[in-house]
Amino acid sequence: MKFNKKLENINTYEAGKPIELVVRNFGISPKDIVKLASNENPYGCSPKVQNAVAKMVPNMALYPDDSMLKLKNALIKKYAIGDENLIIGSGSDQVIEFIIHAKADETSKILMNSVTFAMYEIYARHVGAEIIRTASQEHNLDEFYELYKKENPDIIFLCTPNNPTGDAIDVREMTAFLEKIDDDTLVVIDCAYMEYGAYKDARKKVVPGELLKKFENVVYLGTFSKAYGLGGMRVGYGISRQNIIEELYKLRPPFNITTLSLEAASVALEDEEFVNNCIALNFEEMKRYEEFANEKKIVIINSYTNFVTLCLNSTQKSTELSDALLRKGMIVRDLSGYGMNAIRVTVGTKEQNSRFFELASVLL
Ligand SMILES: *Cc1c(COP(=O)(O)O)cnc(C)c1O
Repeated sequence: MKFNKKLENINTYEAGKPIELVVRNFGISPKDIVKLASNENPYGCSPKVQNAVAKMVPNMALYPDDSMLKLKNALIKKYAIGDENLIIGSGSDQVIEFIIHAKADETSKILMNSVTFAMYEIYARHVGAEIIRTASQEHNLDEFYELYKKENPDIIFLCTPNNPTGDAIDVREMTAFLEKIDDDTLVVIDCAYMEYGAYKDARKKVVPGELLKKFENVVYLGTFSKAYGLGGMRVGYGISRQNIIEELYKLRPPFNITTLSLEAASVALEDEEFVNNCIALNFEEMKRYEEFANEKKIVIINSYTNFVTLCLNSTQKSTELSDALLRKGMIVRDLSGYGMNAIRVTVGTKEQNSRFFELASVLL
């Protein structure tokens, strides 16, 4: 059977391995498995969210509120933006899909960092767009600008803080960069980890309302999957000018967010204290990873997120290390697929991190 030619060379997205798979493959009991592979909030979500969602369970027979009024109002208030500036997706992943499908086709070019979130490339391939990458591992905006001038891309992706390296762009530098970009080029600023980045360093804090005022070609992306602890609920959003949001809406399937997810995300925004406590704990625990890396003489990238990237010495192979950890029930992310001899480890709870140090100590 013939299929869409554009799909021929797409490698499917490799998600962090689920706990169930490790149970099945290695016969390890679920209670002995620690998953530090997908940058979920190890403390979960606010208890208020759990209560609110439980109350919505009897409503499951009905379709969700497709206007998403409650969640939209909460986000509009949080960011001081208008209703016409917002679109909600089933994860910010879905908004990335809308953006690429709305703006690009097989004649388009999409510029992104050498090492960055894998889904940009996968969606770019859906439409047959050409992918252009910088050479630097961390976002180097001079290099982005050089490539912008040379290639004239239709879309530029900036991911700050970046996944899977954890580095973040200085907002003043980013603003200066955006000022030099033509309005016909759409710039997507993926801020999946912005809650962490903004907490660590105010100079990294991207404010979507300010971008909106200044620039007519920028989309800000946020998600509830990371700091808000709602990865299982699949809610993300895009913020941009009205004409861009209207284009994205043309691609949105009806009822793309479930009733329970809408409720969870709305209530999560009412308990910022919970999220802030989690973020504070994250950076406390991250210090232990920095000490560990120092002790083991391996490079750790300065992280503005809830994960750390450990760059191994040439004598060690990240694939072997992550496999050895997996056999012990410790799930981390091997970054060899990104061309790095490194592993990415989500900063977990105190106990989870201690377990990582215990297992990794023997192997490193
Ligand atoms: C996790 C992540 C997302 C998307 O998460 P969703 O669960 O789809 O909202 C987007 N960008 C980056 C960089 C991420 O790490």
